[in-house]
Amino acid sequence: MHQPALELIIAALEKIRESSDHAPRASKSALAQLQSAPVLAPLPEAPASPCRRRLQQREKAAMLAAVQERVRACTKCAHLVCSRTQTVFGVGNPDAEVMFIGEAPGLDEDKQGEPFVGRAGQLLTRIIKAMNFAREDVYTANILKCRPDMPSGSSGNRAPTATEMQTCRPYLVEQIEIIQPKVLVALGAVAVEGLLGMRAAMRELRGRWHDYNHVPLMITYHPAYLLRNQAPSEKRKVWEDMLQVLERLERPITERQRNYFL
Ligand code: SF4
Repeated sequence: MHQPALELIIAALEKIRESSDHAPRASKSALAQLQSAPVLAPLPEAPASPCRRRLQQREKAAMLAAVQERVRACTKCAHLVCSRTQTVFGVGNPDAEVMFIGEAPGLDEDKQGEPFVGRAGQLLTRIIKAMNFAREDVYTANILKCRPDMPSGSSGNRAPTATEMQTCRPYLVEQIEIIQPKVLVALGAVAVEGLLGMRAAMRELRGRWHDYNHVPLMITYHPAYLLRNQAPSEKRKVWEDMLQVLERLERPITERQRNYFL
């Protein structure tokens, strides 16, 4: 902040007066000289720190909006640009502690422009609520921002290809870097492949902590898997993974929560 020298000196003299028995004195000519002294130059900007700075929520929201605009106009996958209704960027708290990552938008997501709004998404919402979060507290996104195209006349959804994921992944990387979540949750094997570039059976991957650019990553089943396999034992597996997430976030866990699906 710019501040005339006289104001600085007077402030210093007032401090001395408060803490000393002897009132400080200054001659008229000394004060006149100070009054004409040049304004202090501002301190030079500190060089950008190589360390990761915690961003404020408003900064994060603005940065995400800028990435979203680029995604909206993205034409890197020409075949998906032709088939998509719209891009599906991601929704939730820009300052979320936990970020859920799926593979790609399906039919419902493509129509509504939001990830996880179909049946699997509704189940994910129930899981998130069971964790004592609201959907708005967390952030949900996919590896792919456009719905993988389907042959004309066929219904359903298809998994994204490795090339499609590689092309789109930089947007997700930006989202993660901006949101700076404490924990990432990868939902299903395709999300794992998109994030970590590795393929393995989900029974080997899930329930263990992995590392994604120094962010702890929990792998669990995609909610669509739970819709196909309704056995309580499978629900319990997902729930145990979520309990690990809650523990990592140091969130309180009730006895009732611990016993879900037992
Ligand atoms: S999938 Fe991603 S990279 Fe491909 S067109 Fe859509 S937004 Fe662009």
